Amino acid sequence: MFNSLSDRLTATFKNLRGKGRLTEADVDATVREIRRALLDADVAVPVVREFTGQVRERALGAEVSGALNPSQQIVKIVNEELVEILGGETRRIRMAKTGPTIIMLAGLQGAGKTTLAGKLAKWMKAQGHSPILVACDLQRPNAVTQLQVVGQRAGVPVFAPHPGATSELAHPAGDPVAVARSGVEEARQKLHDVVIVDTAGRLGVDADMMEQARQIRRAIVPNEVLFVIDSMIGQDAVNTATAFDEGVNFTGIVLSKLDGDARGGAALSVSSVTGKPVMFASTGESLDDFELFHPDRMASRILD
Ligand code: GDP
Repeated sequence: MFNSLSDRLTATFKNLRGKGRLTEADVDATVREIRRALLDADVAVPVVREFTGQVRERALGAEVSGALNPSQQIVKIVNEELVEILGGETRRIRMAKTGPTIIMLAGLQGAGKTTLAGKLAKWMKAQGHSPILVACDLQRPNAVTQLQVVGQRAGVPVFAPHPGATSELAHPAGDPVAVARSGVEEARQKLHDVVIVDTAGRLGVDADMMEQARQIRRAIVPNEVLFVIDSMIGQDAVNTATAFDEGVNFTGIVLSKLDGDARGGAALSVSSVTGKPVMFASTGESLDDFELFHPDRMASRILD
């Protein structure tokens, strides 16, 4: 994902090697190169501005330390600032103290929510939890079936509306808020300790979709609302993330399709712009292509 950015930054730092001391002009030239590399990687302009401002200030103010030469010092600063814009510490799921932990997924259609639901369920199951998936995407014709397939692959049950049932609990067909509520109730009754609620997305940000997501959030009071974003969407990332944050006030970000070879600016922008942590990375179509997101490891990978 970050090959080109990584190469550009490495080349920039190479230019500083062998310099005994950095002048202001050296720092400015380096910061300029970093700015260009980030913009070319599609990182959002305000994030680039903030990032390079910090790097410049810290590089100019840096003590000349015996242990690090100037080039190593700049690499260290850039590394620390990258960790910062990626959310700082690794953030784990906040588990409910009593009752099931409710995790709601939100994002545009095609972002990778349904796939993520299966990945997350499989991952939590491997850690000894007993998850259930709830199919609240009633918009897309195949979404419920797709979640059922994913649930089967993950070895996890799926709560879905069955058209034609009689009781309110068994038959909330057609109403995603009722399905979400019933799904959580089902989890309580069957003693599942994790409920993962898949919701509908649209191709673009849409007021009806957002209102529906907001109503689901209000109805089930999730412990986490994960915003799933396709890392390859480029410059649209910031607007989309901001709209979802205003709409559903998500608690964490999942970067999907990090295995792609696009420029990856989304990955480097959304956490910084929304102030919410990236919690997971989704890196392929198989249910095992999934990991906890570690900002420090990602920064090191970029600067490798
Ligand atoms: P949803 O509409 O948000 O539920 O998105 P889906 O889960 O249906 O995913 C949309 C498409 O992206 C599907 O073809 C998935 O197989 C694919 N996909 C999902 N996650 C990843 C990922 O991390 N990497 C890659 N390469 N493809 C993915």
